[in-house]
Amino acid sequence: MEIAIIAHDGKKAEMVQFLNEQRDILHKNEITLISTGTTGTKVEKAGFQVTKYLSGPNGGDAQIAARVAERKCQMVIFFRDPLEKHPHEPDIFMLMRLCDVHDVPLATNPATASLLFQGMLNKFNQDSE
Ligand code: PGA
Repeated sequence: MEIAIIAHDGKKAEMVQFLNEQRDILHKNEITLISTGTTGTKVEKAGFQVTKYLSGPNGGDAQIAARVAERKCQMVIFFRDPLEKHPHEPDIFMLMRLCDVHDVPLATNPATASLLFQGMLNKFNQDSE
């Protein structure tokens, strides 16, 4: 299963914290992480393996959106900063739109992301029974 992780600058620390809380689930299951460039660098420094795409403003969100459209990416965790303006807003909307077009789970804050991960774990457990 491929999960995309993206965090705006004001939310990158929250993303690292979230992944640390989910470390067990990530390591025990076959999950591949992909990310935009700067988020990926931060997450790597925290000890996670991640495939990095371009930085968000340079097209990273669009690259991940393409993977969602091609059904290669099955979940998106995107901690957006609602208090900042972003030059690549059209790419961000495209990514969220394509998640809805293809019915791909999308969490935009840690509370929702935790529920998604819990649901994913329950499904893994059911499937292995
Ligand atoms: P970044 O991109 O991980 O390269 O900062 C995230 C974004 O702004 O969409």
